Amino acid sequence: MITTERPMQLLIGGAWRAAEGDKTFDVVEPATSDLMAKAALASPADVDAAVKAAREAFERGGWSNAAASARAKVLYKIAELIRSNAESLAKLEARNAGKPIGDARDEVLGAAQCFEYYAGAATRIFGETIPVTAAGLDFTLREPVGVVALIVPWNFPLTIASWKVAPALAAGNAAILKPASYTPLTAIELGRIALEAGLPEGVLNVITGPGATTGNALAGHPGVDKIAFTGETLTGVSILQQAAPNITRVSLELGGKSPNIIFADADLEKAAPAAVNSVFGNAGQDCCARSRAFVHRSISEEFDQRVAASTKELRVGDPLDARTQMGPLISMKQRERVQGYIDVGQREGARLLTGGSVPAGSLAQGSFLEPTVFDRADNRMRIAQEEIFGPVLTIIPFSDEDEVLRLVNDTPYGLSGSIWTRDIGRALRVARGVRTGVLSINSSRSVHQEAPFGGYKRSGIGRELGMHALQLYTEIKNVFVSLE
Ligand code: NDP
Repeated sequence: MITTERPMQLLIGGAWRAAEGDKTFDVVEPATSDLMAKAALASPADVDAAVKAAREAFERGGWSNAAASARAKVLYKIAELIRSNAESLAKLEARNAGKPIGDARDEVLGAAQCFEYYAGAATRIFGETIPVTAAGLDFTLREPVGVVALIVPWNFPLTIASWKVAPALAAGNAAILKPASYTPLTAIELGRIALEAGLPEGVLNVITGPGATTGNALAGHPGVDKIAFTGETLTGVSILQQAAPNITRVSLELGGKSPNIIFADADLEKAAPAAVNSVFGNAGQDCCARSRAFVHRSISEEFDQRVAASTKELRVGDPLDARTQMGPLISMKQRERVQGYIDVGQREGARLLTGGSVPAGSLAQGSFLEPTVFDRADNRMRIAQEEIFGPVLTIIPFSDEDEVLRLVNDTPYGLSGSIWTRDIGRALRVARGVRTGVLSINSSRSVHQEAPFGGYKRSGIGRELGMHALQLYTEIKNVFVSLE
């Protein structure tokens, strides 16, 4: 049970234990700034123990070489336990990450579905037979990579942990999960659930502690065969550097500055509210947030007014209140960072259409911020180029298809985006021109369990979700059998 009385422990080799020296760190509830729990602060020696436990579990067999159908059964059981613990997990996530309870409930169900999907996928990891020139039979085997380090952020803690843990386990790897220090609690619960589901000891280890020490020790550990990381682009650079000496395989899901392109013939009844929801969901702390809206000049005044009206209607408040649509930011530090960008936007000359302030009254204890919209912006402004990771929308007018494609692609990021038009030819032309890994037409959905997810350019390397994720967690072995 999560409590402030007793620190949360590390899960290493199937056993819960305190960190070396009994070190801990505080886990705070962003809506109230109250202490929620204390978590174990893993030292490099603890990280080493987790890597050794994972290696032993991998080499012992029993998981890596179990029948795929046996692995599938355990993954189904994990999904079942997530479902039977759904309400308590959702409340934990809502409080710890500051997200509206309705969203947290959806995310917990999504995590269960993710384990169900990869339970099914475990028995569908196929090799190929290849018609080689030599006289023989050539075929490939898809084998687990080995020990995988899964490092996840605070914005969708259980969701992103599941996106990594489920396919890694389905493919037969042994894993070490390191959650973000702001939000370690549902990852610890996932460890507990995995043990209860019958996952062999050491196949999933959960270690908590700061990225700069715990994460660093994990990413640079020579016993790790693969790192799957989600987080900031700059942290991704550091991960690549730490992985380089060991040639550790790396996949990265990084930041974004995703465009929402609204043509003059778009259905504004749908596009305007979608523009609001797709940037203010999770208080804008979403790598896929459509934080740049490109609007055709002929409709920009009407669009801006609709967006301003919908934004003002958003209910900001207590994450546990079912009517809340936007909770606090993850921390006071994050709020200060976002406020800094609001100042920058004003200095750069964009028009502050709505928001920009800290809400008054009962919300004062938490890291809340009003949803904020700038219009009449220019794509060269910092608020249009840099990932703010908060509730700030920047609206930029455009005149034609060529111009908007040039502006949309003029960013170091390439994660996601949306196109709103009734002209199918234009939609497909523009879709082909946009340099992002994920795109939606007349929708702002970026994520489907069954479909690949990931970024172009500095938004990442590799694709998660769907069957594509299994490529991240398997090696290919080519076998040739002489028939001479
Ligand atoms: P960070 O990069 O700061 O942290 C992500 C994880 O990495 C945390 O567990 C963190 O630990 C750890 N970490 C930090 N520094 C290191 C290091 N040097 N070595 C190893 N691990 C380290 O990102 P945030 O948690 O702030 O998450 C927000 C970012 O994530 C945004 O930029 C967002 O765009 C991106 N993101 C991308 C997604 C995608 O799929 N493309 C999805 C979701 C988010 P600790 O918390 O202890 O610092």
